[in-house]
Amino acid sequence: MKILILSTSVGALSSGIGGGVELTIYNLIQEMQRRNHIVKVIAPKGSKISHANIIEIEGNLHIPAQTQTRDIPITMPKNSVLANMWEYARQIQSDYDVLVNFAFDWLPFYLTPFFKTAIAHFISMGSLSDSLDQIMEKIARKYPQNVAVYTQSQANTFPFAQFCQILGSGIDLSLYQFKEKAEKKLAWLGRIAPEKALEDAVKASEITQIPLLIFGKIQDENYWQNILQEYPKAPIEYKGFLSTIDLQKELGNCQALLMTPRWIEAFGNVAIEALACGVPVISYARGGPAEIIIDGKTGFLVTPDSIDGLVGAIHRIPEINRYDCKQCAEEIYSLTAWGNNFENWLKTIVNN
Ligand code: UDP
Repeated sequence: MKILILSTSVGALSSGIGGGVELTIYNLIQEMQRRNHIVKVIAPKGSKISHANIIEIEGNLHIPAQTQTRDIPITMPKNSVLANMWEYARQIQSDYDVLVNFAFDWLPFYLTPFFKTAIAHFISMGSLSDSLDQIMEKIARKYPQNVAVYTQSQANTFPFAQFCQILGSGIDLSLYQFKEKAEKKLAWLGRIAPEKALEDAVKASEITQIPLLIFGKIQDENYWQNILQEYPKAPIEYKGFLSTIDLQKELGNCQALLMTPRWIEAFGNVAIEALACGVPVISYARGGPAEIIIDGKTGFLVTPDSIDGLVGAIHRIPEINRYDCKQCAEEIYSLTAWGNNFENWLKTIVNN
């Protein structure tokens, strides 16, 4: 197949602003190229992926939907990068069998019936906006094969759950090294933003006095500063936004990954990255992580928003066999298994 990927419009690829969708796009390019498909990517200027053929597009970035309220009208920045990306896609569409949209935004859904080449929409977050839900539902009903998500929990946040193809996620396991023994440290990783509720992990670290290493892009600087001011005694250390290679090295040394999503996490790529290193995951029992973690075997699922729940699970970490974590990642979350799902989905659309 000739596949044209249209990236998220909230940030350049490899900037970290796009969160897990950046890793998903990275992996998709690698896996589809390995299967001899021709892949090109249209992405905001500054996007960098070593193995990808990227067309960089100028324009202003869009505001991430999760920073807005549900009822806010659709807005577009002046000289929108998303509009510019899709204008370019319109011109070259006939060279491709399928276009794959990764932007969680109104415009690509609205444009779908106006394109001659089929558009596959991969939705990377749960429901966040009434207007967006409405246009997504319209397209999902009109093209019942063309909309896909990560998990069933994510699909269930939308009024068109029955039309969502569930693709899961996968990672290049060869990049993650298994670490049999951990140091007395916990990890938290992801975009530093309110929907991820980092403060809950910081509180748990303060109570247990086990150091918490924090990795990820600071997306909301005020939110981060407030955490530092509110918990001056918590043994936390900010390690920055690391590349996968460096991240997995540090992560593998930790006793567990804490996931504290306040929202319904669509998947949580960080969960499978931790498992791949043999690191158990302690998470609130909601969204994607609740589908990924096998409670008592690869980590613990605790009552959402309960700090006591996190602390209780931290004390139970020695019950987990780190080999079980690694094995779970290998059995379910390989790039090949996920690549099969994604490839079959695209083939169905192209052959339709
Ligand atoms: N990440 C990274 N370096 C870091 C911290 C995080 O590359 O130092 C990446 C991580 O590999 C994951 C993404 O950030 O792919 C976070 O994605 P996730 O699916 O967990 O959440 P999202 O941000 O999409 O809500």
